[in-house]
Amino acid sequence: MASDAGRGSDPGGPHAELAERWAAALGGGPRNHVVPMSSAESRLLLAALAEEFIAAAASTEPADRVGELGSELARSHFVGDEVLGRTLAVLNAYLVGTVPADRAAELLSAFATGYLRAFRSWLLAEQESVRAAEIAARRMVEQQLRASEARLRAVFSQAGIGTGLSDMTGRIIEVNNAFAGMLGYQPEEMLRLSVTDLTHPEDGPDMWQKYAGVLAGKYDNVQLEKAYRHRDGGTVWTNINVSLIRDEHGKPQYTLVLVEDVSERRALRERLQYRAHHDQLTGLPNRSRFFDALTAAFADSTRVGLCYVDLDHFKTVNDTFGHAVGDELLAQVAARLSACPTRADQLVARMGGDEFVLLVPHSSGVNEMAGLARTVLHALAKPFYVREHQLTVSASIGVMEERADRCSAGEFLQAADTSMYWAKAAGRGRYAIFDADRGRREHTSAELSAAMPSALRQGEFFLDYQPIVSLANAQTVAVEALVRWRHPDLGVLSPARFVDLAEDNGHIGALGAVVLERACHDSRQWHNRYPHTPTVSVNVSAAEVADPAWLDHVQHIIADTGINANMLQLELTERAFMQTTGRPLRALHTLADSGVRIAIDDFGTGYSNLAYLGQLPLHVVKLAGPFIQRIRTPDTASPTDLLLLETIINLTHALGFTVTAECVETRHQADLLRDLGCDTAQGWHFHYPMPADQVTALLGLSDLHLS
Ligand code: C2E
Ligand code: MG
Ligand code: MG
Repeated sequence: MASDAGRGSDPGGPHAELAERWAAALGGGPRNHVVPMSSAESRLLLAALAEEFIAAAASTEPADRVGELGSELARSHFVGDEVLGRTLAVLNAYLVGTVPADRAAELLSAFATGYLRAFRSWLLAEQESVRAAEIAARRMVEQQLRASEARLRAVFSQAGIGTGLSDMTGRIIEVNNAFAGMLGYQPEEMLRLSVTDLTHPEDGPDMWQKYAGVLAGKYDNVQLEKAYRHRDGGTVWTNINVSLIRDEHGKPQYTLVLVEDVSERRALRERLQYRAHHDQLTGLPNRSRFFDALTAAFADSTRVGLCYVDLDHFKTVNDTFGHAVGDELLAQVAARLSACPTRADQLVARMGGDEFVLLVPHSSGVNEMAGLARTVLHALAKPFYVREHQLTVSASIGVMEERADRCSAGEFLQAADTSMYWAKAAGRGRYAIFDADRGRREHTSAELSAAMPSALRQGEFFLDYQPIVSLANAQTVAVEALVRWRHPDLGVLSPARFVDLAEDNGHIGALGAVVLERACHDSRQWHNRYPHTPTVSVNVSAAEVADPAWLDHVQHIIADTGINANMLQLELTERAFMQTTGRPLRALHTLADSGVRIAIDDFGTGYSNLAYLGQLPLHVVKLAGPFIQRIRTPDTASPTDLLLLETIINLTHALGFTVTAECVETRHQADLLRDLGCDTAQGWHFHYPMPADQVTALLGLSDLHLS
């Protein structure tokens, strides 16, 4: 267009005035269209147009040029609603009186036509560009959508985590490779299935309830552990996360499931759990599993029963044959115990060491439990064969049976443990049924253990003495010191209740010292009164002898009390001897050399052989009670028993030792032992253990008799 600077050169001419009015007309009123030029530029344009218009109006040329001016105005984006109307009004005002009316009409019409033509093409271009922009935008959105959908699809199908989509009827719409592969399918094969085809016998009822809750829109998301059946028949354990997907109106539309294969993790967990709940050596449920079962039994049963089984002298097996044999023996014992229960809900567990339990939920009464205890004793009665050794094992069994609402699981177990000790104290190889009255009288091991230091300080331990008599003339040749505890609440306790405890808790040294001092002191008193005083025989445990200070201590006591060393006898059990080697054994040799007599106690309960005895600093072999019990009456002794006794007595004599029989309760036993050559004996047939002053009286009597 022709809006060069030259056309606006006369700022004060009529065109300036026209441009001024024109600009005023267009500048006022509602501006519904923004002209993309500054107001100075607009004025310049209008001035140029005004000048040309005036020039055209003044000429006689056809009005075409004026049409151009209209076009120019429209092309310059003067396209608001009122632009044309106001422009025509301003131009008309100028023309009136300047040109003839028909010329004016011609000019105005040409202007309007030019304007409208340009306006229309502007409008079309405008619409076109809007449409093009719209198309471009739509294309871009579509492309982005496709890209994001492709990304989503790739994520879905390639994701390592199993993913599936199903509709609200449970039809599977989509599954990814990971999910299908997890169950041994191709994704498209799974599309023929419905969610309910994926049930598994391990599905708990709450699992499907939760799923139904999602379908019903009750939950938006649930996490479950679920088993699936693999196509090959196996089970795949998974953690699944089911989410509800709603449409834009909030209506449930799909369920999305994310599935993670946790089979391996679960198998590991199960292995660890098994390990945590089972004893490695025997394969039996362990202590922790037992406690779970005990708690469950107390929760579910009206009555509960328990056999608490402790093997007798198991430590001796370990000490004699080594731990490998001990371990195998335990495994064999476990196998025999496993065969004892009569119902599937009964549990056999290993509590540790040589202790086992048989738990009977829903027990019918104490008789059932006593029956089970007898079954256990019977099961263990036959010898065990471990690596060419033939081993005999007995057990002490504590039996407890009670209504579950009458006591706690802890009290119940404590009671079974207590009655197991009663079985031990009564001679082992038997069961004892818990008796609440007796239980009240006796304290638990733990309480006894805790009370021991103060008992030692308060002088609650005292001695009874049991005479040991010559079988030839019934004269008392020795007395065995037997310790007792006068407990302030529980009365007099037998050593079976506390000697092992003292060995375990480290008080045995102090206890042994009290016993030895007292026994030597009493011996000194008797010696002061009567010339024929018996030897005093004191029991010593391996733990005492093992103490490096023990030898010194014994020598001091002998010196302090002033007794003759050969008036003192020390008894170590066969088992104690087995634990005594090296320096402790040399200590025994030293004492034996100084005249102290050494006896092996309870001989025949361990596994030591006679040849071994020759290497010990021994003077006396004390035959264990069970040997003697077998010959209690003429009916109970078998020819083998007699032969065995005779052989042992002869061999012992051959080694230069004397033989003492323990637990002689009948005249028959006494006579038989004398005939077999046994030297001395102790037992209820002769004397019960008695207090020191009764020994004094007894010695007085025999002194009278002798003198
Ligand atoms: P032990 O040394 O074999 O003592 C013999 C046990 O047999 C004593 O039991 C005694 O009362 C019991 N007895 C005696 N005659 C008969 C009888 O005819 N028939 C039956 N069935 N039993 C009889 P007690 O006093 O209960 O002692 C048990 C064990 O405690 C002792 O067995 C001994 O090993 C240990 N003991 C006792 N006093 C001490 C001690 O001062 N120190 C240590 N370390 N142990 C001791
Ligand atoms: Mg003894
Ligand atoms: Mg004994």
